Amino acid sequence: MKHIALFFLLYSSLQAFEYNLVPQKLAEGVYCFFGKLENITKENGGNMVNTCFVQTKCGFVVIDSGPTYDYASQAYTQMQKIAKLPIRYVINTHDHDDHWLGNSFYKEKGALLIGPRTYEQNIFKGMETRMQKVLGKSLFGKTTIVKIDTIVDNNLSLSVGDKRFEIKQFEPVAHTKGDLIVYMPEYKLVFAGDLVFNDRLTSLRDGSLLGSLKVLDAIDTLDASIIVGGHGYATDANATKHLKEYLLTMKKEVQNALDNDISMEAVTKKVLMPQYKEMKLYDILHSRNVFDAYQELEMYEEEEE
Ligand SMILES: [Zn+2]
Repeated sequence: MKHIALFFLLYSSLQAFEYNLVPQKLAEGVYCFFGKLENITKENGGNMVNTCFVQTKCGFVVIDSGPTYDYASQAYTQMQKIAKLPIRYVINTHDHDDHWLGNSFYKEKGALLIGPRTYEQNIFKGMETRMQKVLGKSLFGKTTIVKIDTIVDNNLSLSVGDKRFEIKQFEPVAHTKGDLIVYMPEYKLVFAGDLVFNDRLTSLRDGSLLGSLKVLDAIDTLDASIIVGGHGYATDANATKHLKEYLLTMKKEVQNALDNDISMEAVTKKVLMPQYKEMKLYDILHSRNVFDAYQELEMYEEEEE
């Protein structure tokens, strides 16, 4: 009996996490995997992120590679069921680890990795990522950190087979200090990365409230009919609306608090925005967002003076 138990323990530790990825078709040749509206846990294997892929005549272009090597490998299996084609490019929208830790798998497959300058600046071999800390060694599996091949500072146009991709960085600081969007003009489609969130709250910890608002306006100016965010399920032309309203309300209420000399310590108790209380991750992220917005708007005021 003891042996059987040991066998199962060993066997399960060798088994890869089963992500059960199911591609959702958004347009001809355009698919995404939608992750859970949660924080990273062992139970979800880090699958709380959206990643996408586009089929072209000469191979796939992947937008964000997901949380682990195994996730990317299972995504690849799904792609190959659609067409037996190589992976040509992986475009990383930003340097948060839920979006790029699948890179090592795609590199092995010969894909060229594209990303923002911050990838080169902030990601290095041997660093311990948040994902690794939460998932632990066995779930993290074969995931390693690999270098990027091409850096995009402002714009890059990419033609792959029959499809065109315009990679753009609209603002120096928005969700992070290097956020790329991928625009497909023929499809009027934007892969917005974490510049767009739906159905759950965003985090301002590495970014800027004002920059995020500017980028959301810039995305709306593209007049896209499909907008895919890094988290959440809405992908229509109004996909930017929820985050925009959240940030505009926060800007107004935090500005109000500053005008009324509310202290930094008191502001998180003052700007509760109860209409967002039912949103996923409110308890974890909202008060930190208010705190970050307060610091940013206070600094902005000082610069203006
Ligand atoms: Zn993210």
